[in-house]
Amino acid sequence: MTNPVLIGGAGPAGLALAIGLAKAGLEVVLIEPQDKHRLAEPVFDGREIALTHSSIAALRRLGAWDKIPAENVFPLVEARVLNGKSSLALSFDAGSANSRQLGSLVSNCDIRRALFATASEQRNIRLLDDVRIEAVRTNPHQAQVTLSDGSEHCGSLLVAADSRFSSIRGLLGISARMNRLGKSMLVGRVKIEEDHGGIATEWFDNGQTLALLPLAPKQASAVVTLPDGEATRLAALDTVALGQELTRRFDRRFGAMRAITSLHCYPLTTTYAHRFMAERAALIGDAAVGMHPVTAHGFNLGLAGTERLVRLVRSGIAKTGDPGHPIVLKRFQAGHRSATWPLYAATNAIVGLYTDDRLPGRIVRQLGIRTARLAPARKAVSRMLMQGA
Ligand SMILES: Cc1cc2nc3c(=O)[nH]c(=O)nc-3n(C[C@H](O)[C@H](O)[C@H](O)COP(=O)(O)OP(=O)(O)OC[C@H]3O[C@@H](n4cnc5c(N)ncnc54)[C@H](O)[C@@H]3O)c2cc1C
Repeated sequence: MTNPVLIGGAGPAGLALAIGLAKAGLEVVLIEPQDKHRLAEPVFDGREIALTHSSIAALRRLGAWDKIPAENVFPLVEARVLNGKSSLALSFDAGSANSRQLGSLVSNCDIRRALFATASEQRNIRLLDDVRIEAVRTNPHQAQVTLSDGSEHCGSLLVAADSRFSSIRGLLGISARMNRLGKSMLVGRVKIEEDHGGIATEWFDNGQTLALLPLAPKQASAVVTLPDGEATRLAALDTVALGQELTRRFDRRFGAMRAITSLHCYPLTTTYAHRFMAERAALIGDAAVGMHPVTAHGFNLGLAGTERLVRLVRSGIAKTGDPGHPIVLKRFQAGHRSATWPLYAATNAIVGLYTDDRLPGRIVRQLGIRTARLAPARKAVSRMLMQGA
């Protein structure tokens, strides 16, 4: 019998990979510092994930999509980008007969809950909770990990899925490009007076970036990106003061806003690992690519990466009987790098341009919006957002 696959991290990417491999008939050991009760009932963390059609199809194939209550899935019909006080908007819609929406918004906690429930149904996934991976050794035949409780486990392959700050990546000797932006993204739910009509609005204002993501009628997720110090001050406001401050910052575009959850604060760091593989090891999810959340692609790319790895592991087993064969890992690395690097680089360039408050930056992005309003550019972006429709 082959050694199991060891996965470090039961976040959305680690869980999706575990389910995919288990369904392909492999034994999986999933190692996670949180305990199983927290994993089964993850708390609301403010994140509303914009899922593409491909991601929804992938979650359906895993058996997790139907575990998300339909009333917690919100349609995203259009996305609009605004620059400062200008009324010129760049808008993207589905523009296709196949689908009337760009994708769907689902809370991160609902995705995690559904994936964990699905993983719990798989007999060949063994969860080791409340422990973290503290040491890693690999040789050409296997990977061996030592956990915080002192136990040791061997696998044919070790996969790091332990976030953009991955310690397993470091234990494997893989360095990463890390860019701490000095800004934080605040996210929380609000009630609004003017309905959003299923449209996500992103607004690049001077000194702040704002977004409103459509949820239930007259309910939305407010997303505010600010310098770290300013973000900490906002996150500490009481509900009434917070509603007033959001109403002011959003310039009453949606009427008065009332906070219905507290704001969750995410200091922004983008990461890109210099390698996605090592001897008997691979990186997936944010451990491989930690995207800036502004283009809403982190989990979408992570999920695509897990599907790629499952596919290659299956074909590796068919050809060599070995899920951690170097050819499998090299193909995974090549495929996932070419699928992610252009989007990672483009997102960082957009963020750089749209958060540059100097006059030339403001003029260039206004020109950018004018150019991008031309039909071919808009269609290209819509196609990217609509993958899999
Ligand atoms: C505000 C915000 C909005 C976002 N919006 C979108 C969006 O609209 N669309 C989109 O596609 N993406 C979005 N993302 C990105 C998305 O949330 C991430 O890409 C996704 O959560 C990454 O999943 P992951 O499993 O790789 O990592 P994580 O979710 O970070 O999970 C990592 C897991 O590893 C565990 N762990 C940590 N250390 C260890 C260790 N030593 N050993 C074992 N386990 C360990 C952790 O406990 C955790 O469970 C957003 C992110 C943010 C912050």
